[in-house]
Amino acid sequence: MRVALFSAKKYERKLLDELNAGHRHELVYFDTLLEPETVSLAAGFPAVSVFTNDNVDGGVLKRLAAGGTKLVATRSTGFNQIDLCAAKQLGVKVVRVTDYSPNSVAEFAREGNFELDGLMGFDFVGRTVGVMGTGKIGTTFARIMAGFGCTVIGYDVGRSPRFEELGGQYVDVATLQGEADIISLHCPLTPQTHHIVDARFLAGTKKGSLLVNTSRGGLIDTEAGIEALKSGQLGGLAIDVYEQEASLFFRDLSNTVIPDDVIQRLVSFPNVILTGHQAFFTREAVGTILDTTLASISDFAAGRPLANEIKV
Ligand code: NAD
Repeated sequence: MRVALFSAKKYERKLLDELNAGHRHELVYFDTLLEPETVSLAAGFPAVSVFTNDNVDGGVLKRLAAGGTKLVATRSTGFNQIDLCAAKQLGVKVVRVTDYSPNSVAEFAREGNFELDGLMGFDFVGRTVGVMGTGKIGTTFARIMAGFGCTVIGYDVGRSPRFEELGGQYVDVATLQGEADIISLHCPLTPQTHHIVDARFLAGTKKGSLLVNTSRGGLIDTEAGIEALKSGQLGGLAIDVYEQEASLFFRDLSNTVIPDDVIQRLVSFPNVILTGHQAFFTREAVGTILDTTLASISDFAAGRPLANEIKV
């Protein structure tokens, strides 16, 4: 099958070419994001593959469908960048990578300043960790934190028996806010979770608590986060995702004037760690992501059931 791969990075191309030997798809790589300005590149491709910051909204899907696209395969777990209702109406199937490596971890780099001032940490043991979203990643995170001797509490719209087996205790949002020393976000970005962490939420958290977001930038109202950091209500922020990341992440901007004042303000705090959407970036996770994506395209081409189809 002819496949147009948008946001295709160098590290992916090499691996995809190797993995594709067993599938024999015709893979065409595009550096660019899929967006209204670039969607014409996909004309004539029955399958299109995207990543987290591509824009697969209703308008783009309409043009994809008009150009003959019947399958959109996102090389990610999250699918908030895709308008699923529009895809369904247009008869375009959507697949994702439901399960890869929830163990993949971000590695954090600091600039060449090895001064200890401002770097005083705290022991995890005895701390309370609040997990918002106890799915595959949230539960894996809970297991790790329980291993550090933390008390783990969680909030989710559903329940994971595994989370409870690990000693996690379900609480309501207000209790999680009031008790957690560390809050980690692991729910998907949906209309219900957009800015789930806003000024009101932050006002209800324990003073000096630490907020971690490796899920999607849109979960946090960043301006409210900055205010909470300034007042000390938030003791630290560690984020791998940022609401406006589409124009920043996955590219080298070292010779560019970055016009986004919010991110510049964020990185000016000594108690903020910002990484460029790289929590997934381990050899194991990337291998599974690409393997699963090619297998889904092969299943689609052969008319087999799609195990990773996202249905609305
Ligand atoms: P998952 O579907 O297994 O778990 C998501 C959990 O969130 C589910 O238990 C669900 O019930 C819960 N949830 C949904 N709506 C909620 C709400 N309103 N409030 C509280 N909980 C809610 O997904 P996962 O594999 O654990 O991935 C979680 C998210 O992590 C993905 O949606 C994606 O956005 C993000 N992610 C980021 C990276 C990265 O590189 N930074 C990599 C993979 C996934």
